[in-house]
Amino acid sequence: MKSAAVVNYAPEKGSVEIREIERPEIGDEDVLLQVENVGVCGSDLHQWTADHSWPVNYPVVLGHEFGGVITRVGSRVNKWKEGDRVVSETAAIIDLNNPMSRIGLYNLDPTRKGFGYGVNGAMTKYVKVPARCLHKIPDQLPFEQACLTEPCCVAYSAVVENTRIKPGDRVIVLGPGTIGILSAAMARLCGAEVAVVGLDADTHRLNIAEQYGCIGVVGDPTPWAIERDGLGADVVIDAAGVSITLGIAMKLVRPNGKITKVGWGPQPLGISLDPIVQKNVTLQGSFSHNWPMWERVLALLTNKQLDVRPIIGGVWPVTQWHTAFEKMHKGEVVKSVLKPE
Ligand SMILES: [Zn+2]
Repeated sequence: MKSAAVVNYAPEKGSVEIREIERPEIGDEDVLLQVENVGVCGSDLHQWTADHSWPVNYPVVLGHEFGGVITRVGSRVNKWKEGDRVVSETAAIIDLNNPMSRIGLYNLDPTRKGFGYGVNGAMTKYVKVPARCLHKIPDQLPFEQACLTEPCCVAYSAVVENTRIKPGDRVIVLGPGTIGILSAAMARLCGAEVAVVGLDADTHRLNIAEQYGCIGVVGDPTPWAIERDGLGADVVIDAAGVSITLGIAMKLVRPNGKITKVGWGPQPLGISLDPIVQKNVTLQGSFSHNWPMWERVLALLTNKQLDVRPIIGGVWPVTQWHTAFEKMHKGEVVKSVLKPE
């Protein structure tokens, strides 16, 4: 039995198409998940437009933001059963003996391979998932929302774990994409005042950021950054996905402040990092997430402290992936969600 899958088949720009693929065989410690919904990530778009900075195992089924129903369990899986509603973490392959895994930071195991680039992802009907990746979701949490647990965990990791924002902080988020808006929402939950910065074309996405209690800024956010005491923002979260915005972050941040870089792009920087030294700034990278963050984010989604509905711009069948990708690429929607057929 074959199912339609969104396959990224080569490194050249635009090398994505629908292919019919076999249902995967599972191993002893895996489950077979019937995918209910899968979010389109900025990184799926980057692989489509071939401006990504990570190695890809072509051909690969895209999609790493997903939830579904367990339809089969491997012989050594005992915690899960058919019919369980779950979401999955993204670290499909890790070395459990890597020192990073041994301290619980398996997301930073350099041998890690994720869904959608290292192994087949979830933009299709069935995906093979190691049982250790799974988290149970409550019946009242719809899959359309639950599939976005993953980007929420990226934001939680960046804002809560890696930046440790405090109530009253003034936080500037560069880039009104999914990760930018969710980081802004997370900073609001931490008690910060938050401005989200975009370009003229981003008005729609900035309006959505305002639904999370943030200020939307088109253009230069310097007046907002220095409004309190003339010194700049306590924290700048760079979620723009291009290198050069680090220069803007260095201008906006206050002395002894923090810059957390969660957006990434392969371009060389070409500017001096001296402001980091002169201002005594902490520059922090943030990558991925792990089990305790997933449990926290699921609690926030379940108790409705975090509502992802404002960012969902629509749900399309996987065969209409191109429309869903285009709308997100053009910034017409913050987040596109797909439904397998
Ligand atoms: Zn993602």
